[in-house]
Amino acid sequence: MDRYCKLCEKKLVGRVDKLFCSAYCRIQYHNEELKQKREVIKKINAILLKNWNILTELNISGKTLVPELTLLNKGFNFNYYTKIYTAKSSNKTYHVCYDQAYCKDSEQGMFMLKDWKP
Ligand SMILES: [Zn+2]
Repeated sequence: MDRYCKLCEKKLVGRVDKLFCSAYCRIQYHNEELKQKREVIKKINAILLKNWNILTELNISGKTLVPELTLLNKGFNFNYYTKIYTAKSSNKTYHVCYDQAYCKDSEQGMFMLKDWKP
């Protein structure tokens, strides 16, 4: 069965475990792979940074109650955070974004924002 270079698709000759036609193609292929992985990290970092900016903008007193809708309207993304923490004393679960934390409040549709000290 014919095999082809993973990058340029040139027909491969030689060893059966060969994946690339040349060192150039092998290096280019891995550089591209690395670039794509870095793009994923860049996108997630941008989401986390946006979340952090929203939290610090709204959490003016270090402990602020805000409506969920306010967070959503500013483009807050609840799927990304840096840590989850459950307080032993209150049994409340906080989602942490660097040095900011938020928790669903007992009052419906509200979130408690807090400064977070690790
Ligand atoms: Zn090639």
